[in-house]
Amino acid sequence: MQETLNRILENCRRYTLEGSVASYIPELGKANREEIGICVASEDGDYCAGDWDKAFTIQSIAKPIFLLLAVMDNGVDFVKQHVGVEATGKPFNAIDYAEPLLLREHINPMVNIGAIAVCGLVKAADNRERFERLMDFTRKITGNPDLKIDEEVYASEKRTGNKNRALGYLLKNSGMIYGSVEELLDVYFAMCSVKVTCKDLARMGLLLADHGLDRASGKQIIPKEDAVFMNAVLTTSGMYDGSGEFATRVGIPAKSGVGGGIMADCPGRMGIGIYSPALDKKGNSVAGIKMLEMLSRKLQLSIF
Ligand code: GLN
Repeated sequence: MQETLNRILENCRRYTLEGSVASYIPELGKANREEIGICVASEDGDYCAGDWDKAFTIQSIAKPIFLLLAVMDNGVDFVKQHVGVEATGKPFNAIDYAEPLLLREHINPMVNIGAIAVCGLVKAADNRERFERLMDFTRKITGNPDLKIDEEVYASEKRTGNKNRALGYLLKNSGMIYGSVEELLDVYFAMCSVKVTCKDLARMGLLLADHGLDRASGKQIIPKEDAVFMNAVLTTSGMYDGSGEFATRVGIPAKSGVGGGIMADCPGRMGIGIYSPALDKKGNSVAGIKMLEMLSRKLQLSIF
């Protein structure tokens, strides 16, 4: 496995030059687009290569965390009454949702509008508690008690995230956010700024691959049916409007973020964490997808 990862990483290094780092959140523009790392977590241990220990912000990989906790708090049916699970086919930050909001359709939780809505469904007395619960849960599912937010990225997105503000107020207008939009967006921005490594994402992937059962402690951290639900949502919409292409090329549940991370899992087999901040036009890591494609072919990971 170690040799396979080393080889795949070296083969894919050149693809980092085909993408560019996200700059709409100014602080993310400082990333080095040539960095590339991978980690595989499986029953027989962790295997890592390249810049696997470099910390970067989780960004949209916080979306499955919102969804998991919202579903664990309220049940799948309740969450589905608020947001749907159909892929939108739109960019992750699209704001043209007038009709879907009217019909309560296609507010997918793996793109910004649905993720902000679902973040608000996490049960808490106030947004401070909501953030603390989400952080605790993130530490639990990554097995990393030391996770913190990147204050610079958080401040940078808070300062410039007006499109997300627009989405928040659209949701509020449709009765889909209770309480303060600004406060809820603060939770959303802070959670997008959690600093992780490939290993953290691989561990989260392994937990989903094992349907919520933490093998080390024997604890069921996520109920099995919720983990299965999450994997299905990731398979159909985890890579934004690139999810169909990704399913045909790689064929496993995965979620990307504009920080350059991808969290993927092969049910029953392994979790995979990727970092490579050079992105394609849809906001997915170019070299990251290439590495997953090669790994999937080599180890026959596709669930199809
Ligand atoms: N924080 C980012 C945003 O809301 C997350 C987007 C992403 O990773 N695609 O714009």
